[in-house]
Amino acid sequence: MNLAEVIKNEMNNDDECSEKVTIQLLNLYERATPSEKSIINELLISLTGWSFDSLLEKLEKEQLVATCSLCGLNFDETEINMTDYDLDLCEKCEEKYKENHSS
Ligand SMILES: [Zn+2]
Repeated sequence: MNLAEVIKNEMNNDDECSEKVTIQLLNLYERATPSEKSIINELLISLTGWSFDSLLEKLEKEQLVATCSLCGLNFDETEINMTDYDLDLCEKCEEKYKENHSS
């Protein structure tokens, strides 16, 4: 086993709640000086291939995805109607839903 494999194993076996780890990581990065930030980034890039900022960008993209309650497909958040009904509906399902509930 090499060092990278040991790190991967330990991350998988970590019982720490992922919400807590997220907060720790964000605080750590916020507190870091520019040169410390670049060390954190180098470390993350060797572990994941991505810098801290790139990982945050990925996270933001993930969060903009919304799931239709009826068909279960993922859409851009802007394509899902989350306000007018109890359900989160994509355009297609919204049409069907309206038909079924107007007659
Ligand atoms: Zn749908």
